[in-house]
Amino acid sequence: MHGSGSLRRWRLSATLLALYVGLVLLPVALAAVQGLEARPWRDELATGLGLAGFTMLLMEFLLSGRFKRLSAQVGQDRVMQFHQVMAYVLVGFLLLHPFLYSLPMGDTPPTVPPGEEWLRLPLWPGLTGMFAWVLLAMLVFMAIARDELPMRYEAWRISHGLGALLIALFGLHHTLEAGRYSQDVWLTGFWVLAVLVAVASLIHVHVIIPLRQRRYPLRVATVRQEAERTWTVELEPDTEAGHPGSPFPYRAGQFAWLKLERPLFRITEHPFSIASAPAQWPRIAFAIKEAGDFTNGIGELAQGTRAYLDGPYGHFTLDENDARPLVLVGGGIGMAPIMALLRELRARQSHRTLVVVQTNRSTAQQLYTAELEDLTRELDLRVHYMLSDPPEDWNGLIGLPDATLVQQVVRLPLQDCVYYLCGPPAMIDTLEHGLLSRLRIPAGQVVSERFRYTLGTRRGSSTRLLTAAIGSALVILAGVAWFAVR
Ligand SMILES: Cc1cc2nc3c(=O)[nH]c(=O)nc-3n(C[C@H](O)[C@H](O)[C@H](O)COP(=O)(O)OP(=O)(O)OC[C@H]3O[C@@H](n4cnc5c(N)ncnc54)[C@H](O)[C@@H]3O)c2cc1C
Repeated sequence: MHGSGSLRRWRLSATLLALYVGLVLLPVALAAVQGLEARPWRDELATGLGLAGFTMLLMEFLLSGRFKRLSAQVGQDRVMQFHQVMAYVLVGFLLLHPFLYSLPMGDTPPTVPPGEEWLRLPLWPGLTGMFAWVLLAMLVFMAIARDELPMRYEAWRISHGLGALLIALFGLHHTLEAGRYSQDVWLTGFWVLAVLVAVASLIHVHVIIPLRQRRYPLRVATVRQEAERTWTVELEPDTEAGHPGSPFPYRAGQFAWLKLERPLFRITEHPFSIASAPAQWPRIAFAIKEAGDFTNGIGELAQGTRAYLDGPYGHFTLDENDARPLVLVGGGIGMAPIMALLRELRARQSHRTLVVVQTNRSTAQQLYTAELEDLTRELDLRVHYMLSDPPEDWNGLIGLPDATLVQQVVRLPLQDCVYYLCGPPAMIDTLEHGLLSRLRIPAGQVVSERFRYTLGTRRGSSTRLLTAAIGSALVILAGVAWFAVR
């Protein structure tokens, strides 16, 4: 049964990739069928890269949008990783785009003699193209150097969204006014529609979702310290403020964007895995580790603080038709969604065999030890603790989790188990790589959730994602090359 789930997921991913490539190449095809006289191949290549690159830029809005079903099927971290890889590709296309027109090459004379009008463009389309180009270079620099920049993540996120919107609008003006092929009614229609969809996706995230959230106000019910610099925050519906009392419809293991109405944090929202099981409604719990501006203040959160949720998102969920043993590895705060899965299994009185490995740096960071102890009496559950910096009297596991640890603790036929991994991206990459490449566990039996949207160490599932993204980029490039030499 689980196999059919992973096959469905594989088919969906392949369909979405094909759709992506098809949409990116659509304006190239619409240009090709216009029957205009072909120019030297490098002019056509420049145009083709511009057409494909601009479409990819508009698709980035959709990739960073919030689509619950997509997130539940493919995983939000994968979608965001794809967003990042394609950003590099489109930036390469668009940064090359103006240079290919003007650089002299071999025996082909430049199409624009030096000293004439800049790229033979009228003033405004020339300027909007240049603004879009410079802004794009800035946006890329700010995305790569994000962690080093002296700005809060929220400020970066807003500047990233606004910058991308400006590039899209400048790019649209440039494309419609300067584009040789974009004078065609079909291509004009395509661009206008694509920009509208991109803007609609921004409006959906920043206007529609917040407005809809207002109908479901929650309040902070309790805040308690769970471990060193880690807090459990429980929310409940604020029926006095108009919450209809209907349950938040999530599956154990999913995450939501949490917004707290604190003066300093009015416009900020952050993703957190839900640590409670749906059966625990009307309470909904998060385990939050101090990591920066927003999370450092969680311990001082007042009871009754107004909260809103957007979600649920994510695919870190159980296949209800599957009875195979589960191996759940939680690194640090990565235990939060694993706890939700265990609480759900307890609510369902599950008989599945469960092996949990909780890994931390020190004992002060360990989470839910008492509850896990209780759960071992209610479920067919074994719990192992691992520390990378253990005290002298420690008699648990020592080190960082990898495939050897899995072989050591699971004590079941490894191919029969389904693996759930949550924690720092480096931990997930190492474990995925070990499970898939060394232990030959089928990819459909490994489910993971990353708490940071990075390309990671390019191992594990990141390798497959990179292969899919690079494969898509190559197909697009082949389409553009065909356009250039046709
Ligand atoms: C799917 C998912 C589930 C998560 N679940 C948990 C959880 O259960 N418990 C927990 O403690 N942490 C969780 N996190 C991480 C948590 O979102 C960040 O630690 C938190 O947002 C940090 O915010 P800050 O302002 O305190 O720190 P900052 O210093 O602003 O951010 C630290 C880092 O956190 C990430 N981050 C910050 N804000 C956002 C944002 N709005 N959107 C996406 N990433 C952001 C960025 O990578 C940033 O570099 C999860 C993250 C994701 C993506």
